[in-house]
Amino acid sequence: MSTEKGNLSIHSENIFPIIKKWLYSDHDIFIRELVSNASDAITKYKQLVSIGEVEMVDEDFKIDIIMNQAENTLTFIDNGIGMTADEIKMYINQIAFSGAEDFIDKYKDKADKDQIIGHFGLGFYSAFMVADHVQINTLSYKEGSQSAKWNCDGGTEFEIEEGTRTTRGTEIKLFLGEDGNEFKNESVIKTTIEKYCSFMPYEIYFSVEDKAPKKDEEGNDIIEEIVAINETTPLYSKIPSECTEEEYKEFYSKTFMDFKEPLFWIHLNMDYPFNLKGILYFPKLGTNFDTLEGQIKLYNNQVFVADNLKEVIPEFLLLLKGVIDCPDLPLNVSRSVLQNDGFVKKISDYIAKKVADKLTGLFKTERESYEKYWDDIHPFIKYGALKDSKFNDKVKDVLLFKLTDKQYVTSDEYVLRHADKIEKEIYYTTDTLQQAQYVQNLQEHGIEVAVLDHPIDSAFISHMESLNQDVKYKRVDSSISDLLKEEDEADHKEIEEKLLTIFKTSTGVENLKIKIESLKNEDLAGMIILSEDSRRMQDMMKQYGAMGMDASMFPSDETLVLNKKNTLVNYTIDHLDDDEETLKLVTEQIYDLAMLTHKPLTADAMTKFVKRSNDILKRAIIK
Ligand code: ADP
Repeated sequence: MSTEKGNLSIHSENIFPIIKKWLYSDHDIFIRELVSNASDAITKYKQLVSIGEVEMVDEDFKIDIIMNQAENTLTFIDNGIGMTADEIKMYINQIAFSGAEDFIDKYKDKADKDQIIGHFGLGFYSAFMVADHVQINTLSYKEGSQSAKWNCDGGTEFEIEEGTRTTRGTEIKLFLGEDGNEFKNESVIKTTIEKYCSFMPYEIYFSVEDKAPKKDEEGNDIIEEIVAINETTPLYSKIPSECTEEEYKEFYSKTFMDFKEPLFWIHLNMDYPFNLKGILYFPKLGTNFDTLEGQIKLYNNQVFVADNLKEVIPEFLLLLKGVIDCPDLPLNVSRSVLQNDGFVKKISDYIAKKVADKLTGLFKTERESYEKYWDDIHPFIKYGALKDSKFNDKVKDVLLFKLTDKQYVTSDEYVLRHADKIEKEIYYTTDTLQQAQYVQNLQEHGIEVAVLDHPIDSAFISHMESLNQDVKYKRVDSSISDLLKEEDEADHKEIEEKLLTIFKTSTGVENLKIKIESLKNEDLAGMIILSEDSRRMQDMMKQYGAMGMDASMFPSDETLVLNKKNTLVNYTIDHLDDDEETLKLVTEQIYDLAMLTHKPLTADAMTKFVKRSNDILKRAIIK
């Protein structure tokens, strides 16, 4: 075969500088493209075997990636279908090239280039993002074919001559240039192969051919066995009934590097009306709520595409960990197109439905396990219910409330259990420690309290109220339940007014409100009550505070409820007109004690409280 020279294209001046510049943000993708091509070439060969076009030979199909550090080369070798010189001219010089050219024509003026790049299969020419010179050395499967070699140094000229391969397959050798400096590093290559090719269907081996061998103690070379980097039949591609619990757990820890066991999982396996396989795991939550962050890896025919692609995966599902392989996804288009694609919407609806089915199934058949999982999965389910109305419709009856005594009930169950005591109200606490006194008061009268202390819960409460407007949610300190009071017809107006004056002067709290009640618990002198509505308003202000609103514009609306049955309160009432010093001591202390069980004292108030408590003790000793 004589050496032949030619020109890649008459239209384009020089496509490579553009490729380099444009693909900059994602240029490790050349590895994915070259390994995918190698894998496709093997699949094509196997297909020829299966239709009897060529005879089956007993051999292992595999892809080798070989690095040479002295030469700065990276070679991709497959034993696939190979190419003849004519095929190189057709596939590489014309088809592949026009593919790259199309890409640039289409997108060079688009503002959202960053969104497209990385999801557009640029194929073979992506090699020029990192290489100054690329060489193909290949031998076709066709009987009697000659090996062919193609060389191109990043200009528009190429050269084809006789190749040196003696066995079927293709070698693509990249001479890494300055733009490929990052990829002259063994571990970078290894991690990149792992990132994109972990589940590719043929074994991939990576080695550095000019690496000095390790020595053992006697100075002999240690022969390192090279093992395949990838899992050729990843668990998700298997039939669910053939996978064991151990395998699911192992796949999880290997894929996500998370050594906490997952709670449970959903194996997706569907071939009609679209193809989709995958496993979604419900991870165990860390101790910190804020680190609620999942990872959904998206694959296309066992080739990694991207993590957490919001256009395909419903946002709330991104809190889970999982892999999804969907060969039908149109990934060679921009993200904005994906977002408006009806097919993509169907996929995401399907996934959300499967997750909802799993949860309702667990609730119905394994309630005990479901309750055990609740603490870990509730932020996810609540978030999903808030974000996705279809998901909400499915899970709304399996939303649980964790009670302070660690029982788990639905809102219907809560209402039913308290039907003889309260009317369609659900009492909740946002802080079991700070609000312990209030919780205890309610518990003493047979009312259970739901713990709603996650950041998502305030939005969740509003959501629940909008779903069922009959049921009202009340924080434990929002009012005094009738159950805690004794009937008291007396009119306390006059005393209340007098007490108000005294408490205002002693505590210095200007907007204080005072109410007298007969509380069953005699030991309790006072309680601070803050109406549900005004507290929610305050919470909202705090949330938006950062946006320039001032919480002090909405003064706190706290009421000090004094217990008529308590000795200290009675002392105050009886001594309204005399013994100023003791009166001041008692009223300040009553107020602070009530405040302490309501919310943290300010530093100043705490200092005063401690000092006053000391004074009280001194008086007790002196007496
Ligand atoms: P695509 O893979 O999307 O078709 P590429 O630019 O990656 O586009 O490749 C163009 C063509 O070159 C392929 O369709 C294939 O026919 C041929 N080709 C590329 N790499 C190989 C290979 N390793 N073995 C055989 N043929 C290959």
